[in-house]
Amino acid sequence: MSRVRQGWLGGTFDPIHCGHLDVARAAHLALSLDTVHLVPARVPPHRLAPHAPAEHRLAMVTLAAKSDDWLRVSDIEMRAEAPSYTADTLDRLAASGTALDTLHVITGADAFAGILSWKDAEILLSRCHFVVVSRPGHPAPALRQALPSLAARMRHPDDYDDRLQPSIFLVDAPTAPVSSTRIRALASAGSSLASLVPPTVAEYIDKTALYRGVA
Ligand code: ATP
Ligand code: MG
Repeated sequence: MSRVRQGWLGGTFDPIHCGHLDVARAAHLALSLDTVHLVPARVPPHRLAPHAPAEHRLAMVTLAAKSDDWLRVSDIEMRAEAPSYTADTLDRLAASGTALDTLHVITGADAFAGILSWKDAEILLSRCHFVVVSRPGHPAPALRQALPSLAARMRHPDDYDDRLQPSIFLVDAPTAPVSSTRIRALASAGSSLASLVPPTVAEYIDKTALYRGVA
């Protein structure tokens, strides 16, 4: 019997947008993942504090996750006031009984380019699979040249095999050319977010005026 394959897409989600959902879908399809968990961080490491409070970001992720039955939301990184390092999250998942070899950490290619500066990067990469999806301007296959020390572990999703050592799967699929930074700017100016975020999220941002006055 094949094992359940879980995907894990962390982010600030300030706010969640169609690009995030494209990444989740691309990983789900390329690796036949049974579920993809969206995991908002209360305090993201390596960046400025988010604009929207954590509870609002979690609420928007929950609305967006209703679009597909394989999408899930995890609040595991919402509970701690300390920065959410993926290494610590994996420790907590392992302690609560998750088999890490069933886990696939998903990132965009822009985020993965900085992997070697993540806390305990080497240990992380040896504990679970990574799935890296292209982002407009950041093709995943280019990571073979950008991160030569990791190139031997990089594979095409077609080469997936349940017995593989933890690997880095490069998924070169199109995703919407959207960023939360651009959405905050549009929302601040009162511009339409139609087709950039799910309609329920656009409505939430409008109703709460979450990003009004954001510089
Ligand atoms: P910000 O502009 O605030 O940095 P963002 O749009 O980059 O926001 P994040 O929450 O920082 O969103 O990203 C979470 C994860 O989703 C990261 O791994 C990032 O690389 C990935 N990601 C976000 N948008 C896209 C996209 N359009 N295509 C591919 N990957 C994306
Ligand atoms: Mg980002």
